[in-house]
Amino acid sequence: MKYYSTNKNSERVSFKEATIRGQAPDNGLYFPGTIPQVDKSLINEIERLSNEEIAFQVIKPYVGGELNEDDLFSIVSETISFPIPLIKVNDHIFSLELFHGPTLAFKDVGARFMSRCLGHFLKNENKKVTVLVATSGDTGGAVANGFYDVPGVDVIIVYPSGKISPVQEKQLTTLGKNIEALEVEGTFDDCQQMVKQAFADREINKKLFLTSANSINVARWLPQQFYYFFAYKQWTDKAHAPVISVPSGNFGNICAGILAKQSGLPVHHFIAACNVNDAVTKYLQTEIFQPQTALPTLSNAMDVGNPSNFIRILEIFHHQFPDLAKNLSSYNITDEETLATIKDVYEQSKYLLDPHGAVGYLSLRRFLQTHPGRKGIFLETAHPVKFPAAVEKATTKKIEIPPSLSSLMKIEKQSRKMNASYESFKNFLLD
Ligand SMILES: *Cc1c(COP(=O)(O)O)cnc(C)c1O
Repeated sequence: MKYYSTNKNSERVSFKEATIRGQAPDNGLYFPGTIPQVDKSLINEIERLSNEEIAFQVIKPYVGGELNEDDLFSIVSETISFPIPLIKVNDHIFSLELFHGPTLAFKDVGARFMSRCLGHFLKNENKKVTVLVATSGDTGGAVANGFYDVPGVDVIIVYPSGKISPVQEKQLTTLGKNIEALEVEGTFDDCQQMVKQAFADREINKKLFLTSANSINVARWLPQQFYYFFAYKQWTDKAHAPVISVPSGNFGNICAGILAKQSGLPVHHFIAACNVNDAVTKYLQTEIFQPQTALPTLSNAMDVGNPSNFIRILEIFHHQFPDLAKNLSSYNITDEETLATIKDVYEQSKYLLDPHGAVGYLSLRRFLQTHPGRKGIFLETAHPVKFPAAVEKATTKKIEIPPSLSSLMKIEKQSRKMNASYESFKNFLLD
């Protein structure tokens, strides 16, 4: 498999090269040269296959011989070594729980797969890579955990001081070894700006080989297809394909789902479940894509004004608007509606949502109201305990902290404080 850049101004590269580089030199995103079709037997016999077998079959054509089958199978197995259950919430709505990984949010799967691939590729290269990532919360923890102790890789996580939840902060500041946390006195946008500038800085690139571990990296983006196959495996009404609602920010996860559908997975329709950040909703109404400044919300992992993976969705549909609109709808949910949904679902179904899952649930319900007879799945992308303030406000009940987290909360954080100036950041990197 060769990958081309969505800006069409860079040479085609292998999976290995795309993983090591992250972004294409023309600043486009790498995209697979063809969309492979899954074997019919994978769909027809999915209930009899193990998750490892399913994931291996799905990802194999994308890796295209860059890893041998045994290595790929063990990377895949390690990546998904936790449950991903489909839970019935009511007669029409099911929750695919993606929060049973080590950092309690769905980004674990992508980060674990990417870190293991990168570690493997670097083993024979004698090359040292610095993974640089800005985080508004969940990415940092997943990347820190996924890359911890991977030989040949140093990780620098840049996060805004006081603007991520206490659990999120502990997850990225307590590991040590090859993981360094920079606590910036500024906003997430400041952090992202500093990181972007470093990627474009020649002086830094002469000294360090930088790569990015956000969802623009194909090795983080592509394995997210697994969720959708695991959902279908557990879907009992195989005669009616599910509607799938995906809480979306940078649109990496939903784009992986759409890719899975294009390669043969039965899905009736996709819903981009968004908070008030509505660039894609507006696009679906007007056919004009207008990037915006992100507005802060309770579902803060989705506070994105210019979703970087949206270009990949356009690419899947060859920039044909009618095809895209047939497959995708989008809804915007306010913070008030998010809180009311957490409360209602808890009271009526005894199911506890996090703010992101609540946006997914309510968007799905809106769609089903106008499509009676359909049933659907929303992705529950984070454990409610990662967002205790909002969840406790909605339910007026104290949320229980799982034992694994209470021991984490006792470890002292280690971070390096920095003001939000590029100069300080650059000096630190060059040092
Ligand atoms: C990152 C994240 C999202 C958004 O996922 P994208 O792939 O960026 O659209 C949704 N929910 C949670 C909890 C997240 O951490």
